[in-house]
Amino acid sequence: MNQAWLPDYIYTDGRFRSGLAIVADPSGKIVELSENVSNATRLTGRAMLPGLVNAHSHAFQRIIRGRTEYRSQNATDSFWTWREQMYAAATRLSPEDIYAVSRLAFLEMALSGITAVGEFHYLHHSPDGSPYSDPNLLAHEVIRAANDVGIRIALLRVAYARAGYQVEPNPRQVRFIEDSPETYLAHMDQLIATIDTKDGMAWAGVAPHSVRAVPLDYLKTIIAFANERQLPVHMHVAEQPAEVAACIQEYGRSPVALLDTEGLLSDRFTAVHAIHVTPKAVATLARSGAGVCACPTTERNLGDGVVPADLYFKSQVPVSLGTDSQTQIDLLEDARQLEYHLRLQKIERNVLASDDDTGPSALAAKLFECATVNGAKAIGFNGGKLEPGAPADFFTVDLNDLSIAGASPDDLLASIVFSLSKTAIRDVVVNGKQLNLK
Ligand SMILES: [Zn+2]
Repeated sequence: MNQAWLPDYIYTDGRFRSGLAIVADPSGKIVELSENVSNATRLTGRAMLPGLVNAHSHAFQRIIRGRTEYRSQNATDSFWTWREQMYAAATRLSPEDIYAVSRLAFLEMALSGITAVGEFHYLHHSPDGSPYSDPNLLAHEVIRAANDVGIRIALLRVAYARAGYQVEPNPRQVRFIEDSPETYLAHMDQLIATIDTKDGMAWAGVAPHSVRAVPLDYLKTIIAFANERQLPVHMHVAEQPAEVAACIQEYGRSPVALLDTEGLLSDRFTAVHAIHVTPKAVATLARSGAGVCACPTTERNLGDGVVPADLYFKSQVPVSLGTDSQTQIDLLEDARQLEYHLRLQKIERNVLASDDDTGPSALAAKLFECATVNGAKAIGFNGGKLEPGAPADFFTVDLNDLSIAGASPDDLLASIVFSLSKTAIRDVVVNGKQLNLK
């Protein structure tokens, strides 16, 4: 039987509309938005929005939240000193621990309106580096955690071959390493064959960790595999200046130039972070159709730098968003920080707005697109919007919550994107099923 919901407002086709019910079929797909539905569940005082899509997550990193915010023995702390602290946790977790911490992270995601996640998963082996008898044991634990909470997951299986160019092996990376593309692809094939894809709740993608961790021949082999199968490809690109310098030293080209000249970019490629790039690299990404995933709450926490989202927006490079290190899990905070970081840097307001924007929610609509449709495209599914044919994945907000009370339909989206507190979130529905999160 079909199900229907009737909130005060539905965000569809770029604006809030009232008097519309949304109808889903038993498979969880939206069949229509209509004014004439008699048996709809009434959601009084609530506005409905498409579920948020978190395009870049390392679920297990939730375990170090609050545990790296102090000066270590180093004179200067940085991304690299944080990484050693993160590895110290990563090397100790059992499969049960990984399930538990992932479930905690995914529960917090669901409670913040996230209905699908791209999990950049690189823990493959046991703590001493020996493979488990099932090489995808940990990947399946993470998938199970997401599906037990009730959100969708793209398991972006990471390839990791080395510590870096002319860098000695790091014993803290032994859980990640698959030293040949043949091994990686055999495990990837096995993962694809064993994921339960029923209802579209889980699927796989290919994730070379970075140009630092995956040498060029390996990279070409696994991206060719992804291209043959039309899988999403995600990769950390230009997160830190040292990574760019090492790439230039090894290949005589920046990471984006290397990927481009080797023919590795496509519209299924997502460059995660893409902070330390030149205007030429932005144009290259635009021409290739590739997207960028920004993770502002993590990038500000790690001291990575500011994503030049103004250049990406101007060049029409689609920008998605990720909670990455899980310092905070609030994708709308990432959306607003994408803009706010640029305000601080440029001493201007409304940097990501454009001249032809109309109405008080035009900038908010662009940021919301990053948190929804752009993320869905990045992780490889047709979601992030409320329209016939899309999955019935949505969340509602309480219009009387103090963080957004008093908004009019025209400025409601701007209120939500810039000011919503997570306390305002009420229903979370994935594939037509209400999640029981309390
Ligand atoms: Zn990451």
